[in-house]
Amino acid sequence: MKIICIGRNYAEHIEELGNEKPENPVIFLKPDTALLRKNEAFYYPGFSEEVHHEVELLVKIKREGKSIDPKFASKYYDEIGLGIDFTARDLQTQAKTKGLPWDLAKGFNGSAPISNFVSKDQFDLANLSFSLKVNSEVRQQGNTSLMLYNIDVIIAYVSKFLTLKTGDIIFTGTPKGVGPVNIGDRLEGYIEDMKMFDFEVK
Ligand code: MG
Repeated sequence: MKIICIGRNYAEHIEELGNEKPENPVIFLKPDTALLRKNEAFYYPGFSEEVHHEVELLVKIKREGKSIDPKFASKYYDEIGLGIDFTARDLQTQAKTKGLPWDLAKGFNGSAPISNFVSKDQFDLANLSFSLKVNSEVRQQGNTSLMLYNIDVIIAYVSKFLTLKTGDIIFTGTPKGVGPVNIGDRLEGYIEDMKMFDFEVK
């Protein structure tokens, strides 16, 4: 399986990092070795001094497809989840300055904690709230209505370039409020009022 991530999908997050609004979705990948499941602890890596949390809504692909029309995109997923796109912001900033790829800054071991997946049917995907608490304090709050590119548009765009396969996971971008995590922090993620994950930074 592959992990496909969307960058710069919320205007206020683009502003907080001083980036430009993209003409098309910004896509990058993480390897499957980045995954953490079942509330496994995240071990702070020794190569970074600035790991940021980015809480993101996830979509799990349920069947293979390529060049998918946006109007049929919803047939390719039944389940959503919540995850963190951990980012070594110091490494990413160096890479961006030099025009180099983000792979290590975004794809390192444990950089993709994910929740269990739940049926999308119980939610309004066009107006869905999600949030991240760090040490019981709300740090990020997002709503899918603020996405620049919605899930169906993302699936259509990505599938022009990459064949989507059953089990692939899409990280749909982070809202504003990203910031550093520290050893000892507890991260809890919610879709609406439903607790999706709860793990520690060690
Ligand atoms: Mg992200």
